[in-house]
Parts: sequence; structure tokens; C-alpha cells
Amino acid sequence: MKYSELAKVYERLELTSKRLEKTHFITQLLKSCSKEDLEKVVLLLQGKVFPSWDENKIGVAARTVLKSINQASGIEQNKIETEWKKIGDLGVVAEKLMGKKKQHTLFSQELTVTKVFNNLRKLSTLEGEGTVAKKNQLVTELLTSAEPLEVRYIVRTVLEDLRVGVGEGSLRDAIVWAFFPKPVGIFFKCDKCNTLNPSSKKCLSCGEDINTKFNIEAEKKFSGKTLEITKIEDVDIDTITNYDIVKAPDEKTARKVYDHFINLVQHAYDVSNDFGTVAQALKENGKKGLSKIALNPETPIKVMLAQKVSNVDEGFEKVGRPAAIEHKYDGFRLQVHKKGDKILLFTRRLENVTKQFPEVVDLVKDHINGKNFILDSEAVGFNPKTGKYLPFQHISQRIRRKYDIPELVKKLPVELNVFDVVEYEGKNMLRVSFKERRDLIKSIVKNTPKKIRIAEQIVTEDNKKAQKFYEDSLKEGNEGVMFKSLDAPYKPGSRVGHMIKLKPVMESLDLVIVGAEWGTGKRGKWLSSFTLACLDEDTHDFVEVGKVGTGVKEKEEEGLTFNQMTELLKPHITSEKGREVKIKPKIVIEVHYEEIQKSPTYGSGYALRFPRVIRLREDRNPKEISTLDMVEELFFEQKK
Ligand code: AMP
Repeated sequence: MKYSELAKVYERLELTSKRLEKTHFITQLLKSCSKEDLEKVVLLLQGKVFPSWDENKIGVAARTVLKSINQASGIEQNKIETEWKKIGDLGVVAEKLMGKKKQHTLFSQELTVTKVFNNLRKLSTLEGEGTVAKKNQLVTELLTSAEPLEVRYIVRTVLEDLRVGVGEGSLRDAIVWAFFPKPVGIFFKCDKCNTLNPSSKKCLSCGEDINTKFNIEAEKKFSGKTLEITKIEDVDIDTITNYDIVKAPDEKTARKVYDHFINLVQHAYDVSNDFGTVAQALKENGKKGLSKIALNPETPIKVMLAQKVSNVDEGFEKVGRPAAIEHKYDGFRLQVHKKGDKILLFTRRLENVTKQFPEVVDLVKDHINGKNFILDSEAVGFNPKTGKYLPFQHISQRIRRKYDIPELVKKLPVELNVFDVVEYEGKNMLRVSFKERRDLIKSIVKNTPKKIRIAEQIVTEDNKKAQKFYEDSLKEGNEGVMFKSLDAPYKPGSRVGHMIKLKPVMESLDLVIVGAEWGTGKRGKWLSSFTLACLDEDTHDFVEVGKVGTGVKEKEEEGLTFNQMTELLKPHITSEKGREVKIKPKIVIEVHYEEIQKSPTYGSGYALRFPRVIRLREDRNPKEISTLDMVEELFFEQKK
């Protein structure tokens, strides 16, 4: 397939926010893919060349791309940068600039999906000396051959920021629309262009009005290999993908059939964590291919996510009574995989952190019965001398640290709190009730404090007992509690409400001030806008995440004032230019915000939207502030 065909679909996807339209465009694309291209196209549609669990990442810095744009177009880097600051999207900038001016070389060739895919994959395999130059070359090569629209999407894909709005839901539905027969009554035929549409008033292909009533007339219009059924049990799932349409006696049955197809694909995705594998299996072997996809204790799955409530009553309302209520530990999530002698640990973002936690590997070996399993847990740090549990910030450095690991294990050990099981000895537990999963955990984990524990839990229907458990959990230094529905399955990657968190405050960040601006007018004698930074633990540098002025007051009786801030910061000013000053990172403040966005403006690559100062954190030294990892984590969490 030509890459330009994919680029055109990207553009159509970008231009509509309607989910049905998006799904329709993706369906058409998937249907037109050859066996060889399908998996690649499914990944590229999501802006990726590896499944999300794969450790390989494209990993190209914006600077490298900037240089490639310069090399492919001859346009000065300064100019590209200025436009980038103005427009904010390097893909659009490159498209705009390169549309006008392009280095025509003998080497340009029409791009195929395979060529782009392979070059992007190569980017992640490069190592050692000259890597940046080689990456540069691979990107430049693509840009040189690309047409302007292709440039936009190549740049964005390289930067891992595709932004065409392909959600998991539309991709899953498109796979069903492309590979399963269409039930009459859920799909309707357009009289003008013959497209089979979902329940949409206008044809998604030609825009003609369509009649979306379930009736005999509608059925007559359909042709193709037809499976006629009277009840859902008549659907022979193993041969189902051989048919084009399904005729059911009524709308309710048709809906059941359709939902069943959706569930099949969703389940295959839940276990494989890769739509590419799912689509490929369907294309090659129909439904039989799907049933071969199984959980693999070497591949991380997406973790189940929590919804939020603000009191105990709401907690029960969401998960029902009685509910399981557990301590919400202030650590980080670890997915524990065991396959024979091999133990692997993954973070909630599916990064492999096995090397960083050798002591956890040993704990799992010694304290959990079983040869193969996948468990879900929270690792919590504690002070080895006092035994006191430590808030997440203190141990977050362990996740990224690649050196001096044995020392760190001694200095900042963790305890594992197991709270769920997803697979055990080859049995997929995703659809088993939480109560049964919990019983299994109790039977396989040897509860050993400061090493490995079964998450503290009560089962109750009583508000008072729940409230007391919540307060006790807070007193013990935990973040709050989790409410869990006893009969619910495990839903990977979803915030479906089987698991609910209750904690006292909204997420805030502790950030250090590294710069400021003198005010104007009546604020002229005060520093009035403060540049905030978080800690990049890899480089030990402070990297900027935004500026804040809101929340600081003019009058003392209202709270923290500009005057106070100015007095605190003045001694730490290191340089001044115009109204701008640079400040030694000393003063920490707590900040609320509405959202975290990606941003080229700040060194962290992120910017806080609508930040507001809450208070000074005199108890915090700058080494203890929120880390870049945390900012990233919050960014990804809100995206979900
Ligand atoms: P939040 O990160 O605020 O959305 O809360 C959900 C997170 O709480 C999960 O991703 C886990 O990392 C963590 N957590 C701590 N204790 C538990 C528990 N007992 N059950 C489930 N998640 C827990």
C-alpha cells in the first residue's frame, strides 16, 4: 500500500470528530489492506510501529526531526523553530514549509507503508556511537521522498504524537465491521452507493439519507453470503467470519449478535494488548485465528483503572453492597508475570522494570506458589531503618534508575501488596469474579510483612465500618481506599467502575521556582509570574513545566502574597534580563492545575494548563519535589 493512501485516511480522520465516521474510514482502510500490510497499518493508525507493551520505542527528539526537516528542505532551522513556536505542531510546520520548498534529489521515491514502517522501526534499534546522525538520516530519507501531506504525518509519527483521534473503541469496532458479517437491523444499506452503514441517518460514504428501520424491506436489500438465524445460539462462531451478513428475526437478536462480535474482538485485544495481532489473526484465519490468541505471561496487559468518588456512600453506590474495600497504598503499580523460571515486572505504563527491582523478583520466587501467573500489585517503599512507609515521591527514583541498583535496594526497599490476579497456571482469570480472584490470591501468596502482602481488605455493606476503615487507612499513611465490586470481572485498560478510589485531595504537584518576572504597574515592585520546574531524575536537572501567577495574593489577609514571594526569592536571583530573572531552585510551592498538555515551550515537554498556587511547601526541599515521571504519568492517566 502506498503511504499516501494512509495519509489521506489520516487527514479524513483528523477532519471529523464523529466516531461513526472515523470507524467507517478505518473499516474501509482495513478492508483494502493486504495480509502483509494489515498489521503495520493497524499500528500506524495508532501512531505506533510497536504494540504498546513492546519495549522498543521510536525515541527521536524533536531537535533531530528539526534537523531532518532542515536537511530535506534546505530551510534554516531558526525559521522552522520560529514557525514551530507559533503553530505548535511540528508536523503542520514541516508540511507548510516543505510544501513550498523541497530539496529535489535523485533519491526520492514514492513511499510505501512498508518503507515508512521499516524506517521508523529501525530508529528504535539504533544504539551506540553516531546514533543521532543515523536517526537523522532515516528521518531525512523519508521526508525527502514525502509529499507535503505525508510529511505532516511522518513528522508526527516520529514524534509519537499523531493526533488523528483513533481511539481504541473505533479501532475495535472497525475490526468488527471489516471482518465479521453485518447483522441486518444494526447495519442498513444505502440505496445510492450500496454501502452497509451502521445506524446513521446519512450514508457514511455518499451522504445520502438512509432508512434505519428494522423491517423486511431492509432485509431484502442485502445480498451476499447470508446466515439466517432464529436465535443467537444458532450463530456458529467458528465459521461466522465466512459470512457477509446475518439475518436475525428481530432487532433485539441482531443487537445481541453484534454485541457478541464486539465482545470477541475486545477480549482478544484485552489478552493480546495489540489490535495488530487481532486484525491479522482474523484476516488469516477468521474466528479460529482469534481463539488462538491467549494471555502470555511475558506480555504485559493493560491494567484495570479506577473511577473516583468523594465519599463512602458514593463508593457503595458504584460497586454495590456488600463491597470489598482495600487500603489504597501510596506506591506504584507493578504487574508481576511469571513463566516458569522467568519473572518479569511491568509498570502501569507497561514498561519492563524487572532489572530495577531484583529484590521483588526474589520475593515473587520465594513467596508465591505457582509456575505461571500474572498478578496485579502495588509496590510501596519503606525506610529500612525505621520500617516506616514512604510516600511515592521518595521511591519514584527506583523506577528509572539503571545503575547502582543493589545500593538502592538497600536504601529504598519496597514491599509488594498483591491485590489482583489475571492469569494462573494457564487459566485466564479475566472473566472470573473478583471474589474468586481474591480467594486465589489468598491461597497462593505467603503473607510476609515488609516483603510481600495480600492487600488489606474488608468486605462490608455498612457505611460506618467502611468510613472507619477509610480513616484508619489514612492514619496508616495510605492514600485512601479502593472500593471493589465482588462479582466483577477484570477489565484491562478500562475505567468501567469495578474499582473505585476514595481519597481526600485532588492531585497536586510540588514544584520548584526557577525563574520569575517583575510585575508591571502597581505590581512593579514584586515578582509576579513564577516559572515552575519539576525534577528530571535521569539527569538530576530541574525542567520547566509552566508559569504561574494565579493564587498568589496582593493583600496579606488573603493568603500567600507577591510581597512574601518576592522576599523569599530575591536572595536566590542569579541573573536578570529585562523583566525576567533566573532563580536558583530553592523555593517549593504546591500547585493545582486543570490539565497537563504536551508543549514544546518548556524543557520538560509538558505544560500545566491553568496552574494555581496553593501554598508554600517549606517542608520540602527541591530534591523531593514532583518528578518528570510523575508529570508524565499524570499526563497519560488523564489521556485515558
Ligand atoms: P489513581 O492512581 O489515583 O488513579 O488510583 C489507582 C491506583 O491506586 C492504581 O493504579 C494502583 O496503582 C493504586 N492502588 C493502591 N492500592 C490499591 C489497591 N488495593 N487496589 C488497586 N489499586 C491500588
